[in-house]
Amino acid sequence: MDRKQFFSVLDTFIQSPGKFTVLSHVNPDGDAIGSSLALSQFLEKLGHRVEVMVPNDFPGFLAWMPGASNIQVYDKDTENCDKILEASDLLFILDFNHISRSGGIRKTLESLKTKKILIDHHRDTDLSQFACALSETEVSSTSELVAETVLHYGEHYIDESIATNLLVGIVTDTGSFSHSIFHPETFAICAKMVEKAPSYNQIHQLIYDTFSENRLRLLGYSISNKMEILEEFNTAIISLNKEELARFDYQVGDTEGIVNYPLSLKKIRMSVLVTERQGVIRFSFRSKGNFSVHELAQNYFNGGGHTNAAGGTLNCSMEAALNQLHRVLPEYKDLLRKE
Ligand code: 5GP
Ligand code: MN
Repeated sequence: MDRKQFFSVLDTFIQSPGKFTVLSHVNPDGDAIGSSLALSQFLEKLGHRVEVMVPNDFPGFLAWMPGASNIQVYDKDTENCDKILEASDLLFILDFNHISRSGGIRKTLESLKTKKILIDHHRDTDLSQFACALSETEVSSTSELVAETVLHYGEHYIDESIATNLLVGIVTDTGSFSHSIFHPETFAICAKMVEKAPSYNQIHQLIYDTFSENRLRLLGYSISNKMEILEEFNTAIISLNKEELARFDYQVGDTEGIVNYPLSLKKIRMSVLVTERQGVIRFSFRSKGNFSVHELAQNYFNGGGHTNAAGGTLNCSMEAALNQLHRVLPEYKDLLRKE
């Protein structure tokens, strides 16, 4: 289904006023929140009643985003969220493409027959799950796809809130325009958003200059004390266990971005951050060039994502998780060493 087909099917769904829910993924990031809020604000302008819902809470550094205070957090208010989902005429699935990424909402989602519309940029989508889908992997972010959608209906729909939310999504998913840029249109879209948003500089500050002292010290500790360089595989690994996170008074979102730093080393092609969360071990993978962390995450870490950014989880101890990582690296040695 190309864009034209998507828009024409979408038209039929949004012609008459409805009750919609826009859903995004577990551990929501800037793109999840930005794309969901912007789409909901656009749909409200068309006269629909729209709720935005995420499985669990989002990081505090996104709380200032226009409309963020109205987001329904499933694991904080499960009963009410289930009622909202059951009463919805249509579900929009944003920034994820697999039910395994829906956290606690999964059970309810599986029991509902409600039609689903997908807007997403992850790989390996099973399109049969959706009434229609805007599923493209060669875009910076889901927010870029939402921007294209709103612009398709008319630039006049872009207001301050929508522009701000979409910029947050694009800026965070591209690491402030440092990766995941596949075409110049990303900048053209951002230029349109910057025109409508109050101040790009302020948006950037609100996202990135909000660290607590503990968060910055955790970053310093991660790099100077915990970064392991495996020259043989052009790989860097940082692991943080529960005690270490507690020592820096870990808050949701505090480890965000740490995984990117080792990639600034010339010799490093893959960076891995391994953290201990409630009962599970979470992996964050980043790479430069053609090495696909999506394949690695999918093959060995119950996850996936994109070629250069992916995540996964294992249900085991930190020690076992690190052993697993070291065990599989030799299989990828040639790919990791290729120029
Ligand atoms: P992060 O490392 O920032 O958590 O995730 C990097 C990218 O991989 C994001 O685009 C995210 O949506 C995706 N991702 C993270 N964890 C998982 C996972 O467990 N499964 C899949 N399929 N994708 C993931
Ligand atoms: Mn995204």
